Amino acid sequence: MSGLAAVAAVLRGARHVLILTGSGVSAESGVPTFREAQTGLWERFDPRALATPEAFLSDPALVWRWYRWRRELVRKAEPNPGHFALAALERRLPRLTLVTQNVDGLHQRAGSRAVTEYHGNLFATRCFSCGESPAGAEPDDEMPRCSSCGGLLRPGVVWFGEPIPVTALQAAARAAADCDLFLSIGTSSLVWPAAGLAEAALAGGATVVEINLDATPLSGQSHHVLSGKSGDLLPELVNCLLV
Ligand code: NAD
Ligand code: ZN
Repeated sequence: MSGLAAVAAVLRGARHVLILTGSGVSAESGVPTFREAQTGLWERFDPRALATPEAFLSDPALVWRWYRWRRELVRKAEPNPGHFALAALERRLPRLTLVTQNVDGLHQRAGSRAVTEYHGNLFATRCFSCGESPAGAEPDDEMPRCSSCGGLLRPGVVWFGEPIPVTALQAAARAAADCDLFLSIGTSSLVWPAAGLAEAALAGGATVVEINLDATPLSGQSHHVLSGKSGDLLPELVNCLLV
């Protein structure tokens, strides 16, 4: 049995499937991961150094310029066949929990209905000082300010070193403890606490499957590893499920 057919067989028998996606799933939509070299305007910058509260405090205008550029890039991007295959899986399986580390909203645009955003959303905004999210249209000033306290507004994403929003953290932890199949797709399994979800699923006895272009720290612990692009492998997996 091929790797794909074996994974399709596990999917067919699963009671509760938990899927964790990372930036690799959006790479084929033209949204760069943080681990690959950046192109154009931002090639001199390391995204992992810009996506921090320290970077925002030292140069908020620079961080806002980067986020506006990323918002524009994502607005022009389209979901790829991997996103669409995951939306199709949600419709076919009795119970699927989709947790994404992506902030681009492409799963929702592809038709996934219940998406837990672990790292927030690129198009959300909140106050760096009081935490309030502005109602209504997003301010488009160079350095938007909070209408309640006058503090600086920031992108509504989770930066490196920051806590995960409590509702997402709890929903993902519950699903990791309950699932009988865990799929890790397009994520390096290096960013915590998201990487801990696979460990929790393994500890609960779930079958663990990894889909990635490269090997990761999770590969050795996975029951099945499918190596390749999620935009190729996920549609093939959905087709396997149908036969
Ligand atoms: P990451 O830790 O999720 O690593 C990306 C992984 O994707 C790598 O293991 C790589 O081998 C794999 N990959 C690349 N192309 C692939 C493909 N076509 N098919 C399957 N796998 C593929 O992510 P990161 O880029 O280091 O980002 C860290 C955090 O930054 C993310 O968790 C996220 O919060 C944020 N981020 C979000 C986006 C987005 O929303 N699209 C993009 C970049 C970064
Ligand atoms: Zn405020």
